[in-house]
Amino acid sequence: MIDLKEISVDQLKEFILSRGLPHYRAEQLVHWIYEQGAASLEEVTVFSKDLRKELSSIARIGNIRLITSQVSHDGTRKFLFSLDDGETIESVLIPDEKRLTLCISSQVGCAMGCSFCLTGRIGLRRNLKAYEILDQVLQVSRLIRPLRVTNIVLMGMGEPLHNINEVAEALRRINELLKISRRRITLSTAGYLPGFRVLTEKAPPVNLAVSLNATTDKVRNGIMPVNRRYPLKELLAACRTYPLERRKRITFEYIMISGINDTLEDAERLHRLLRGIPSKVNLIPLNRSPGIDLEPSPEERTFRFQQSLLKKGMTVIIRKSKGSDILAACGQLRAEYNK
Ligand code: SAH
Ligand code: SF4
Repeated sequence: MIDLKEISVDQLKEFILSRGLPHYRAEQLVHWIYEQGAASLEEVTVFSKDLRKELSSIARIGNIRLITSQVSHDGTRKFLFSLDDGETIESVLIPDEKRLTLCISSQVGCAMGCSFCLTGRIGLRRNLKAYEILDQVLQVSRLIRPLRVTNIVLMGMGEPLHNINEVAEALRRINELLKISRRRITLSTAGYLPGFRVLTEKAPPVNLAVSLNATTDKVRNGIMPVNRRYPLKELLAACRTYPLERRKRITFEYIMISGINDTLEDAERLHRLLRGIPSKVNLIPLNRSPGIDLEPSPEERTFRFQQSLLKKGMTVIIRKSKGSDILAACGQLRAEYNK
């Protein structure tokens, strides 16, 4: 049985031609799977009943399956999906004025082990396949019809650069087939640098966010073990090579953790580190999670940190956390893994 979402579009076209069908049938099928969101061959109603039946005996349109969804009091909605092998992942839909941003996962769990993040606690269970990454978009789009997902962020479970081949393929399809502009797609990384080259060579040039979270290697090593192999200097050098369009900037995410990374000296160092990189900084109050022994910085300290960066002419916002009441906020996704 061939899964038509699992294979690439070229393979899908070959498959249709190999059945002795004309090329336009392949085009129709691609359109119905990716733009109409058909979740089974039954739903591909441009095909005659006979054709659908014929194809159904050898091919299927596979789907990740929704287990539950929860809505936060702020409108954030979290979806729990199960995969064919019983693993589970989460996606989060965040409404914001006119935007509907979907935060998707790239791995089941994550190998990076950041000390502030629940997903990191799970460890890496496995990589997602390209179709499992993009199917999060297709499934949520079906569920919210007639509304549409307008923006995509790869900020759910997993480190996208640690699974970059599948992520790049998913991004290409989300961009070309689901027709979501690469300007509305953001990939967030903790700095797993081996994936960086593939990102620039194989993926559409999406927006880049970097989870920085510290201004010295010592502190970053302590909270983000990936830094021990790919330290700040190398990370920022890679950022300087990232191809940015005019007027585009790299977003640096900085979680404010009380007593760890939130002094005015940190602000000073942050300014120096980002010098010469077109950047904006998002200060994120740490989200508390069960079993994680860190505290968010007091509000006024975060505010002072922001002020000192603003004075230096940087673009800095304090990001409001969304969905924390249903463990849907940054760093709170664990897809029901209880350790
Ligand atoms: N692995 C990638 C993308 C997924 S994590 C990365 O780390 O960038 C998505 C975001 O959640 C990151 O910016 C991370 O810094 C943030 N995050 C993780 N744990 C958090 C917590 N407890 N509070 C606030 N943000 C958190
Ligand atoms: Fe992985 Fe990102 Fe969580 Fe770190 S913050 S453990 S890289 S998902």
